[in-house]
Amino acid sequence: MKVVTVIGNRPQFVKAAAVCGPLRAVHEELLVHTGQHYDDELSTIFVEELGVPRPDLELGLGGGTNTDQTARMLGALGELLRAEQPDAVLVYGDTNSTLAGALAAAQARVPVAHVEAGMRSFDRAMPEELNRVLTDHMADLLLAPSDVAAANLAREGVAGDVETVGDVMVDVAQIVAPRARADGATLVDAGVRAGEYVLATAHRAGTVDDPARLRRLVDLLLGLGPPVVLPLHPRTRARLREAGLMARLQAGVIVCPPLGYVAFTSLLIRARAVVTDSGGVQKEAYLAGVPCVTLRDTTEWVETVQTGWNTLVDLDADAARSALEQEAPTTRPQLYGDGHAGKRVAAAMARLLAL
Ligand code: UDP
Repeated sequence: MKVVTVIGNRPQFVKAAAVCGPLRAVHEELLVHTGQHYDDELSTIFVEELGVPRPDLELGLGGGTNTDQTARMLGALGELLRAEQPDAVLVYGDTNSTLAGALAAAQARVPVAHVEAGMRSFDRAMPEELNRVLTDHMADLLLAPSDVAAANLAREGVAGDVETVGDVMVDVAQIVAPRARADGATLVDAGVRAGEYVLATAHRAGTVDDPARLRRLVDLLLGLGPPVVLPLHPRTRARLREAGLMARLQAGVIVCPPLGYVAFTSLLIRARAVVTDSGGVQKEAYLAGVPCVTLRDTTEWVETVQTGWNTLVDLDADAARSALEQEAPTTRPQLYGDGHAGKRVAAAMARLLAL
């Protein structure tokens, strides 16, 4: 059976790393990279590091507004599906590539499987939330990472079949953990000591596109206290340059280019805390037992907040500082599965294709 998988940005490469192997053991897979993130440091490094197969097709459709980008992807993917005639389309997460892949497939009457189904921040101002909700309501197979996600789907009465498979990023975190533990060099390169620094990331439109909020982000990071290491996403770098804030940031924050997954994980597992607006990084901090401060006022990874490992502060610098002072909780339940989600995704796809 032939599956077209659509990916386009950094976390989707990470998620594909867990699924491509088990999927290809039973099915033919055509991996399509929309080019939503086209920088090497956000995409091809994962091919080398995580063993994601090299994409079979690169559409080069990055840039533009969300609507414009989604529309261009939809056109290109519609054409591709007509030519390839797959038995199913597989999409991950909540990006424009996810929505375009699902809609192109649904319109071509090709069954859609969605990995990371049911995640909700309940904030429709986030482009990601729109992409999640719409994709879930088009999908035939909804592969949920947690019980909370499956309950969201039940409440919304989605039409497709829901299966809780666990989180595919847990699979990848477990596979990479020994390499990350063995990598002491990244810490030395950053000039920090284990347990004494904060690892920060920020790239979401809601954090970096408005210059006033971007300035609040810079001030928050500068006022945190411990040394802050910030692997800088290209979008954030561009916004900081446009706003003339780069020198101010670099005066007090250790700024480096985006890191490969092993190097990033090596910094994450040794950090005193993580400060981020990323979805995936909140969860990776939880998996590593590192307290997280999230620069948003909502999260789709609600369990990390409920268990006390994650605090939502938006861009409130005082709240961020006091969250960093809190003691870490003593318990950390296994919320997101056992590290075998990739195999369950492949098995569920086999059942979908047998229908
Ligand atoms: N990541 C990475 N290098 C970095 C920053 C993040 O490999 O310099 C990884 C991180 O471990 C996680 C993923 O990228 O797996 C998160 O991607 P991002 O924050 O872009 O997306 P989101 O999770 O917010 O959708």
